[in-house]
Amino acid sequence: MARTGKDYYRILGVPENAAAATIKTAYRKLAKQYHPDANPGNPAAAERFKEVGEANGVLSDPSKRKKYDQMRKLGAFGIGGARAPGAGTTTSTTGFSFEDLGGLGGFSEIFSSIFDRARKEGGPRTGGPSKGRNVEYSVDVLFTTAAVGGKVALSVPITEKCAQCKGSGGAPGAAWKRCEECSGSGSVSFGQGTFAVKRPCPACAGRGRKSAEPCGSCDGVGKLRQNRKLHVSVPPGAQTGSKVRIPGHGESGESGGAPGDLIITFKVKPHRFFRRDGNDIQTRVDINLVQALLGTKIRVATVSGNKAELRIPPGTQPGTRFRLTGRGVRRDGKAGDQIVEVRVRVPEALTPEARERVEELADLPDVKW
Ligand SMILES: [Zn+2]
Ligand SMILES: [Zn+2]
Repeated sequence: MARTGKDYYRILGVPENAAAATIKTAYRKLAKQYHPDANPGNPAAAERFKEVGEANGVLSDPSKRKKYDQMRKLGAFGIGGARAPGAGTTTSTTGFSFEDLGGLGGFSEIFSSIFDRARKEGGPRTGGPSKGRNVEYSVDVLFTTAAVGGKVALSVPITEKCAQCKGSGGAPGAAWKRCEECSGSGSVSFGQGTFAVKRPCPACAGRGRKSAEPCGSCDGVGKLRQNRKLHVSVPPGAQTGSKVRIPGHGESGESGGAPGDLIITFKVKPHRFFRRDGNDIQTRVDINLVQALLGTKIRVATVSGNKAELRIPPGTQPGTRFRLTGRGVRRDGKAGDQIVEVRVRVPEALTPEARERVEELADLPDVKW
């Protein structure tokens, strides 16, 4: 697996010629700061903790550090040797493979899988049944669907139990043996002393035993990431940030545990004509000068999809607001209204004939223009 090269010196905040003791001190300080136990539920901190551990794993080992420094000098990272003179900070841009560094790949990969798994499962497994993780998903909803309710189609990426091996990770019929990495306990400790973290064993995915032949469908993981297609009901009056919980549609549980829930957050798209104001819908329509003067009937779009008839009385002023009762958002047995603000369009140019007629109008006695 190719991974992007990282500037371990920058991660630990130490100079390139830092002594082993300096590296150790910097690592201890950062590991304490970003330790998952001190930052529960903080994936960014977990990511930093992982990075710091990765950096320390390389820089604290003289032979790995030597290899790493050589790669760095060759500019393999887009850092080090390739750096512009005088540049204060370095960034890693060029991808390189940890495999180039020999033994490092395995180390970093184990580290990644430990944390990925820990993140996925919310901590070390105890072996008993545990409920599957909840999955949060955000979905765009049309303005009118949110206003009157309806359904939206979703395709949610969910990690599900592998159907072929039923989550065991072993090829059907293959023999099982005790996992040697964790001596069958299912968990491993990473780090030392106060920094030690217990995580599910990456070699056996916390099972404590390994199949002689991994499942071909999931590579022995027992889970697969799949897109689950489903339709979700949008309640009338849904707003951006409204959530619905669909029990049992999250990730599958462990050891017979119940699946988690799917939690959908709606994001209502703005509409070019309608605007929400509580349960009311605000709209604006244009009428022309003659319609404003003489009055008319117009048809106005409503959120239900039907058009409503609106009577404009003679002598309607620009900016007049009309109320279409019950044409707003229907929620909790109550319905809001649709407010229609009328704008009056005035012709920008007149033909000579029209101009003459308007001038005649202007001369009419008894009309207060
Ligand atoms: Zn194991
Ligand atoms: Zn499988």
